[in-house]
Amino acid sequence: MKYPITFILLLLVPSLFAQTNNSTKSSSSIRIEMLFPEGKSKALILSFDDGTSADRKLVKLMNEYGLKGTFHLNSNKLDTKGYLTKNEIKTLFTGHEVSVHSANHPGLTDLPKLDIVYEVVEDRKELERLTGKTVRGMAYPFGSYDDKVVEAITGLGIEYARTVGDSYNFSIPKDFLRWDPSIHQFGKAYFKADDSENDKKELAGFYKLVADFMKAETLSLLDVWGHSWENDGAGNRWTEMENFFKIVSKQTNIHYTTQIDLVDYINAYHNLKFSVDKKIISNLSSIDIYIKLDNKNYKIPAGSEITI
Ligand SMILES: [Zn+2]
Repeated sequence: MKYPITFILLLLVPSLFAQTNNSTKSSSSIRIEMLFPEGKSKALILSFDDGTSADRKLVKLMNEYGLKGTFHLNSNKLDTKGYLTKNEIKTLFTGHEVSVHSANHPGLTDLPKLDIVYEVVEDRKELERLTGKTVRGMAYPFGSYDDKVVEAITGLGIEYARTVGDSYNFSIPKDFLRWDPSIHQFGKAYFKADDSENDKKELAGFYKLVADFMKAETLSLLDVWGHSWENDGAGNRWTEMENFFKIVSKQTNIHYTTQIDLVDYINAYHNLKFSVDKKIISNLSSIDIYIKLDNKNYKIPAGSEITI
């Protein structure tokens, strides 16, 4: 006797369910979490804008503490008074990231799309010429962006764009072209002249967030942004910056990274291939990826497939 195919399927389906429930764990209940490189649960991004001459002092300090920075530069401002010279960019930022901050630092929301494209592509092209590397990151000048700006920069080879909208948390932004950092350097201390009460409160808030990051146990990204030139203002801001560096540097459980390196890592993680039962994992990228699967840590080496 010939049974119609739907009848056979109806007979089969309940037995498949029975097997899933009783003997093996459903693959959809297996929890996969990303870890940072080397299996670390914390990462630190330090991101500074404008490329003024105070970057020299900041980079020197960061190098002393073994920290990595992401520096957003305006190429048309280089070689002018108060800014870095074009000749020093490649050497100064060795080991750090150089990234777009537009060619001339206009508020991008005020510009027609064509001018936004010009500001980004022109800056990208010149910074690539100066560094001899691909430049794929960006910070919005004045933090100014809207949907039109995001649309205009899409397709220009920009893989993330940082805002100035502090999130006061440690999560990884979902939309890389609207990347809110964790906090401005020292919070909003020193924003207003002669307001030492506010400065004290903001500094306390900043160090509280840093302390929370240092004791965090779940996956946490601290992303601090600012400007080297701010440290030349009144008070002991360079000492403050060094204090902050002392706290966060040389920790074995923190991954120190440029922003673009972290973006590349996250993209490679999202591009992992899993078998249906999640026991075979394939990493087609050129980056070693670390994951936590059902509370066990695994490394999936670059260009390889593991069976667990
Ligand atoms: Zn700026």
